[in-house]
Order: sequence, then C-alpha cells, then structure tokens
Amino acid sequence: MLKIGITGGIGSGKTTVCKVFELLGIPIFYADTVAKLIMHTDPVLKDEILKTFGEKSYSIDGDLNRAHLSSIVFNNETELNKLNALVHPAVFRAFDKWLAIHHDAPYIIKEAALLFETKSYTMCDLSVLVVSPEASRVRRVIARDGISHDELVLRMKSQLSDEQKMKLADHILFNDESQLLIPKILELDQQFLKLISDNDH
Ligand code: ATP
Repeated sequence: MLKIGITGGIGSGKTTVCKVFELLGIPIFYADTVAKLIMHTDPVLKDEILKTFGEKSYSIDGDLNRAHLSSIVFNNETELNKLNALVHPAVFRAFDKWLAIHHDAPYIIKEAALLFETKSYTMCDLSVLVVSPEASRVRRVIARDGISHDELVLRMKSQLSDEQKMKLADHILFNDESQLLIPKILELDQQFLKLISDNDH
C-alpha cells in the first residue's frame, strides 16, 4: 500500500487538502490529533509521562493535566524534547495499528505538521508539501484561532522553513488562492493511482 505524507506550515491548508482526499474515500491519519488523543488513552505513554513529568501530570481520574505539562515544556526546549521523545514513538505505534485496519485502501495519507522535523517522512513512500504565502497563513490562522500575531510568529519559528522543506518534498501543492485547489488535488490523486497501477503490472 502506498503511504503518502502530507505536511505544510501552520495555516498552509494541509488539513483542508486532506479533507478533499477524505471525500475521495482516502483514509487519513491525522498525526497531530492522534498525538493529543493518545496522551489520554495510551497506557504505555501515560506511564512514561507520569515517570518523567511527575504525578501531577494526570488527575486521580486519569485525565491529562495539560496546564501542568505546558508549564514544564513552555519555553524549555530540553523538557519539550523529552516530551516529544515519548509522544512521537507512541504516534508511530498508533499509526502502525491504524495501517493494519486500512490495508484494503489503494493508498493512505498521514497528515503531520512536523513530517520532516520528526523524520516521519522516511516511513512514507512519498511526501506532499502544502505551501501558502506567509501573509495568507497569518490572516487565516488569526481568523481561525484568534491568536495574536506574535504568538503565531513564535509557532512558525518552531517549524522548518518552506525553503528547507521544499528540498525534501516529492510534490509541492501551492495553495495561494489565485489558483483552484481541488483540480490540483484530483490530479495528485490520479498520479498516485497511476503509480499504484504501474507498480502492479
Ligand atoms: P494548522 O497547521 O494550524 O493545523 P493547516 O495547515 O492544517 O493549519 P488549515 O486548517 O487547512 O491549515 O487551513 C487554515 C485556515 O485557512 C482554515 O480556516 C481553512 O479553512 C482556510 N483555508 C485553507 N486553504 C484555503 C483556501 N484555498 N481558500 C480559503 N480558505 C482556505
């Protein structure tokens, strides 16, 4: 089965692109959503977080104490790296389980904001980078999340630049609102299906 990784900077439109693939019937693994979910549900990960960040990390009922964790990792790269070193392998485990469920699909997509940064792209056959002008990304995310311009710039700085990611990506999808996005997605879908059919022969 062909595994496609889709990524892009904050607000570039990667989730929007994935929603269109979803309409085509392609299963999508939303890595960032899964990462948040498994901090509540994966017993191995919960145990590791408790050991690393203390008893306060979860309430007596087992609910994640996000405020406690945020206070530790906020502006502390060492602690953030420690948390990522626990969460990323757990996301890979969840992805492997999820793959087994979707073995009948022609291809699947893994959407991850840090596909290149976490080296997750090395586990995909092909990668797609969604690129949008910075001004559009800023406008869209401020409208969507209601965050400040400064907070958004900080988040953007924690990711590789588009120039760095463009060197690693197999396909680049420009989402600049001057061209229709859906036909480009349909074209990519056809390319993936052709690749699969060529490999079958
Ligand atoms: P994040 O990294 O924050 O999750 P993202 O890359 O997944 O962001 P989206 O959530 O897909 O980005 O898009 C950000 C916002 O911009 C959304 O509100 C979405 O509806 C809007 N958007 C994306 N692409 C377009 C487009 N071509 N035309 C109009 N709105 C768009």
